[in-house]
Amino acid sequence: MIDRARLSHLLDRERRAFRERNPRSAAAYEQARANLFGGVPMTWMNKTAAGFPLYLAEARGARVTDVDGHEYVDLCLGDTGAMAGHSPQATVDAVAERFAGRGGATVMMPTEEATWVGAELARRFGMPYWSFSLTATDANRWAIRLARAVTGRPKILVDSYCYHGSVDEVLLVVGPDGEQVSREGNVGAPVDPTLTSRVVEFNDLPALERQLAHGDVAAVLMEPALTNIGIVLPEPGYLDGVRELTRRYGSLLIIDETHTFSAGPGGCTGAWGLDPDIVTIGKAIGGGVPSGGYGLSAEVASRIEGMSELDLIDMGGVGGTLAGNALSVAAMRATLEHVLTDEAFTGMIALATRFTKGVQGVIDEHALPWSITQLGARAEYRFADPPPRNGGESNAAGDPELDDYLHVYLANRGVLLTPFHNMALMCPATTEADVDRHHEVFAAAVSELVG
Ligand code: PMP
Repeated sequence: MIDRARLSHLLDRERRAFRERNPRSAAAYEQARANLFGGVPMTWMNKTAAGFPLYLAEARGARVTDVDGHEYVDLCLGDTGAMAGHSPQATVDAVAERFAGRGGATVMMPTEEATWVGAELARRFGMPYWSFSLTATDANRWAIRLARAVTGRPKILVDSYCYHGSVDEVLLVVGPDGEQVSREGNVGAPVDPTLTSRVVEFNDLPALERQLAHGDVAAVLMEPALTNIGIVLPEPGYLDGVRELTRRYGSLLIIDETHTFSAGPGGCTGAWGLDPDIVTIGKAIGGGVPSGGYGLSAEVASRIEGMSELDLIDMGGVGGTLAGNALSVAAMRATLEHVLTDEAFTGMIALATRFTKGVQGVIDEHALPWSITQLGARAEYRFADPPPRNGGESNAAGDPELDDYLHVYLANRGVLLTPFHNMALMCPATTEADVDRHHEVFAAAVSELVG
């Protein structure tokens, strides 16, 4: 369907244009190589379709400006970290008031605002007891430890091609012959993850039951819809089946809402009435300030509290010295109270629906074997139709060259998608015009490609 020679010619052309358009970012990247490992503040920033990253100058709402002075419609939004929009005013004010006004960011003392945040997260996600972290990775790590402590079981079960942060237990996949294997490229695993974990394909209840039947799974850790290998939605009855099986085999169910928070104010847990034992979340809830948390059901909380042998206060209770710090908590309160409100989601979801329809229109016009999947305020296109049913299928549908082409083409015309994804996320400041701008450029990119 896609003429590969044409694709690679167009990608070369777009990469050259990118280099010419962005001399200052190119120079900054060259300089950074001297003392930054990999030439970037964090090695994943080398995930760039064009050969070097754009350097940030300013960001506000749904707009980003780079150091060469180009303004972008930002549909990446920090891969969800900025789902509230960049520097939303209410969060800025609360952070300034805490840090500069009253003063004190990290003091080893609780603030009264934390109680409000706990109550609000309980209202949204249904879990009554919350604890904070600074990243979703840490929320997951801590949830895993608690699950092991409570159940006395060693293993964690995840979905193939999931991502829950750099958590050692989750970096394995279902291999080509159905066997469980460490994920390719895994860095410095303490032990082979097949010793600590089990893995199944999403949407496969019989496989899940076979694995749970071993009786050694402390918890299933999952996204209610996969979002890190394209978006893969649960089939009808799947999540009910997961809940039923985890109960039957005595495993806890941890739902990671870090990305699926896009489904609504209480993520998929709220939108779909899920009933997990633990909810984890990070990224967006602090409006850009490092924040995260995990919520426990009343039953899990009381089981843990009943285990007097657990040191939850000193060496065992450490979610990080800075976890729940005053600045992070102030940011979470302002973001949840004033920015990512119930009403804001209504507008964000309507925009994602517009985005999805527009992309589908282009796919239909050219009869491409592609699909687009929406999850609330986010949508992602994938080079497969019908959409993949699980992580393995979705991984097989990947086309890195085509991803790169669309990413660079869009960036050269002022639209940013999320690196690692063809994902577009809406924030409260995103407008219909922003969405339409994407469609215009996307349609042009596709037209040039298919002729
Ligand atoms: N959970 C999910 C579902 C994620 O997508 C990610 C990151 N993409 C994480 C956890 C980890 O988030 P962080 O890197 O901010 O710790």
